[in-house]
Amino acid sequence: MSKGKIAIIGAGPGGMAAALAAIRVGFDVTLFERMTEVHAAGNILNLWPPPQKVLKLIGVDTDDLGAPCKVFFKNPQGHVRAEVMLPAEVEREYGGGFIGLLRRGLYQRMLDALPPGVLRLGHELTGIEDRGDSVMLQFANGERDDADVLIGADGINSFVRRHL
Ligand SMILES: Cc1cc2nc3c(=O)[nH]c(=O)nc-3n(C[C@H](O)[C@H](O)[C@H](O)COP(=O)(O)OP(=O)(O)OC[C@H]3O[C@@H](n4cnc5c(N)ncnc54)[C@H](O)[C@@H]3O)c2cc1C
Repeated sequence: MSKGKIAIIGAGPGGMAAALAAIRVGFDVTLFERMTEVHAAGNILNLWPPPQKVLKLIGVDTDDLGAPCKVFFKNPQGHVRAEVMLPAEVEREYGGGFIGLLRRGLYQRMLDALPPGVLRLGHELTGIEDRGDSVMLQFANGERDDADVLIGADGINSFVRRHL
């Protein structure tokens, strides 16, 4: 049985991760994205063991993400100033430090983990009406929806944050 209805605005990494986590613990989730496809800002990212672990826990395929790196900081003369030391059990489980990968590759893995019907593209949130025990949502395409909880994951110029 559903624990309640959550509407998440914005299918960036924040929104996708929130959706996957909430689905896993039994909420009925809809993820609304204004664009007609999920688009990665930027090219690369470095994933350290903690986010690798979280991604796996929320159902994202983290197999063969790439080769874990060992991290050193050197001065211009090549002298090692610092080495990032990881606990032995982390080294054993994750093979080292961060994995560098293309952002769109990770976005695709997160999209693949979303159950069908959760992501609704072409839905730009333009209105929010707080009704106390629920929230009404208005979209630019004329559609309306409602939810028990609204999560704003709509980026740096968040409409949800402005409304609050
Ligand atoms: C040009 C650029 C390059 C970058 N390069 C890198 C990089 O190489 N490596 C790195 O780690 N980080 C990079 N970043 C930072 C990274 O993109 C952000 O930290 C990350 O995307 C934030 O994730 P988020 O889910 O919070 O928000 P966002 O990724 O911004 O996602 C917000 C989503 O909400 C949607 N949205 C917004 N308003 C509405 C609305 N009203 N209704 C419905 N949907 C809405 C947007 O279309 C978007 O899909 C870069 C950022 C930029 C701008």
